[in-house]
Amino acid sequence: MTLPDRGLPSVVIGGGVAGAEIALALSHRQHAPVTLIEAGPRIAATLTPRGRALLCRALDGAGVTVLTGTRVGRVGAEHVVLDDGRRIDSALTLGIAGARAADWLARDLPVGDAGFVQVGPSLQVPGHPDLFAAGDCASMTHAPRPKAGVFAVRQAPVLAQNLAARHQGRGCRAFHPQRDYLKIVSLGGRYALAEWHGMALQGAWLWRCKDRIDRGFIGRLTD
Ligand SMILES: Cc1cc2nc3c(=O)[nH]c(=O)nc-3n(C[C@H](O)[C@H](O)[C@H](O)COP(=O)(O)OP(=O)(O)OC[C@H]3O[C@@H](n4cnc5c(N)ncnc54)[C@H](O)[C@@H]3O)c2cc1C
Repeated sequence: MTLPDRGLPSVVIGGGVAGAEIALALSHRQHAPVTLIEAGPRIAATLTPRGRALLCRALDGAGVTVLTGTRVGRVGAEHVVLDDGRRIDSALTLGIAGARAADWLARDLPVGDAGFVQVGPSLQVPGHPDLFAAGDCASMTHAPRPKAGVFAVRQAPVLAQNLAARHQGRGCRAFHPQRDYLKIVSLGGRYALAEWHGMALQGAWLWRCKDRIDRGFIGRLTD
């Protein structure tokens, strides 16, 4: 993806934590107007009130325009048109409106309301013992969780073991996802917000912590 020239406006569609993080990063990098558009009544609905307040303050401080209760009707090459007919100039429009299930999954597989493949504790698809699903495309019926990389990553070793076990005729083991997980949201300008077990903190040291974790993870993948 190529970023537009600095100074040109951008729009981010989807005011979840990821959308807010990207809006702040764009604002920091581009020194340009950024509009964050959210269909629901508030942004970052998964955060605690304190976490959300800190995030809203950061968006406000960065000059990001936040539109809640607002739907995008159409995306053009250099603008977006809202459902109510308003038009917003945008040299770069990013859709970060949450994971969406691929249509083909629902053709032959058991899927839930949102169209994600249902799996049991072993990550096997019910009625298809040789078929496993993990990550964002899967929906754990035994322990529903939000779509987050932390679950995708932790499912991976269980998935690998269970594929081998199935091949060798052994029993599969269960995946027990954790209840809560550390969320670190970059606020632009090497500053971050963290939320864990209902506690929200912010600071430059949290950004350094996130940077170290992310670089370590990517480094392991490229080795
Ligand atoms: C901006 C942003 C920030 C985030 N930050 C965090 C965070 O801090 N912590 C966290 O835990 N989670 C975070 N998430 C969520 C996390 O990225 C996802 O939950 C995670 O990537 C899911 O992993 P996955 O492998 O299931 O799917 P993905 O990472 O989406 O990978 C699926 C891959 O499959 C490819 N693909 C799709 N269809 C096909 C096809 N038909 N053929 C071939 N390839 C195909 C896609 O192109 C993609 O590369 C963030 C998400 C976003 C968007």
